Amino acid sequence: MYTEITQVHLEPTQKCQASCPMCDRNENGGKVNKYLTNADLSLADVKKIMSKDFVRQLNNIYMCGNHGDPILAPECLEIMQWFREVNPRIHLSITTNGGARDDKFWKGIAETVNKVTFSVDGLEDTNHLYRQGVSWEKVERNMDTFCANDGNAEWHFLVFAYNEHQVKEAEMWAKWIGIKKFVVKKSGRYISTNSLELRPEHQAIDRHGNHTQLLAFPKDPKYQNKSQEDYTAVTRKFGSMESYLDVAEIQCKAVKKEEIYISAEGYVFPCCWTAGQMYKWWMKPQEAQIWEHINKQDINGKTTPIQTIVDTFFKSIEDSWQIEGCGNGKLKVCALKCNKKFDPFEAQWQ
Ligand code: SF4
Ligand code: SF4
Repeated sequence: MYTEITQVHLEPTQKCQASCPMCDRNENGGKVNKYLTNADLSLADVKKIMSKDFVRQLNNIYMCGNHGDPILAPECLEIMQWFREVNPRIHLSITTNGGARDDKFWKGIAETVNKVTFSVDGLEDTNHLYRQGVSWEKVERNMDTFCANDGNAEWHFLVFAYNEHQVKEAEMWAKWIGIKKFVVKKSGRYISTNSLELRPEHQAIDRHGNHTQLLAFPKDPKYQNKSQEDYTAVTRKFGSMESYLDVAEIQCKAVKKEEIYISAEGYVFPCCWTAGQMYKWWMKPQEAQIWEHINKQDINGKTTPIQTIVDTFFKSIEDSWQIEGCGNGKLKVCALKCNKKFDPFEAQWQ
């Protein structure tokens, strides 16, 4: 229900200087996703989508997204400053690769938001192996500037076989430069969202299609995403992941978190997962199941009030959960992301 929304996950841009191999922004780190237009939300767009009353009803707005890095949004800082002005008590945060913008921007961000999460997966010699295209020099400088201006920073370190030996060193270095929290992240993207099969290795490529780093599961069990064990148990019991999803009970994380997602084009979704279905680079236009729900009404917050989108589009998604079988209309993305037995997303932090 509209009045129950207390959190917004905002994607202010589809732009990014990086090409991470497991990100839908590009094809395994290579070609840019053909459906993207480098869309941004301006401050004027945000004001159109989110009324002052709506911003005042929220406890939390975090900028992240499916296809872009928030700091690349031309008006990232101005948007955050407006949220702060309208709702002084709101918690504001950003997740970023940290490799863009100048000192003035980072000082302004430190003064405005409650937290920045830097996604930095290694040190000088390894970060770029996953964060392809991110300059270490810039990351280092921006983390320093943000912390030196009393910014509250977290460092999230995605562990692979090639950087697991650097976790301790990175943690020490984080403390030394003033990062408040260091978090080890265990990627759950070794289960293909397309085929639903386990793939313990993932070949990264560059913009020209050349093989770059082979991304492999870390060897140390403490850095491994434990959902792989659940995957094995579920497929043994139900025959396949597909068969399990047909009958899986759905517990919507967005409902639990009282959250909505707004994309860089202004589209309003319950969560980043349903939004991410729009533009899978390996699918034909409008091939994903979610389009059956999108096409029933306007879901752009610039032209339709959020409340109307919640009452129509969100209701349509929710109704699908009662259908038996994904082939009959139960939304597979919901069954995959919000079932009770297999959750690689939550296991990233366990
Ligand atoms: S930094 Fe984020 S948005 Fe950019 S390519 Fe990597 S995961 Fe995608
Ligand atoms: S994937 Fe579906 S069930 Fe899960 S949070 Fe999103 S809308 Fe809710």
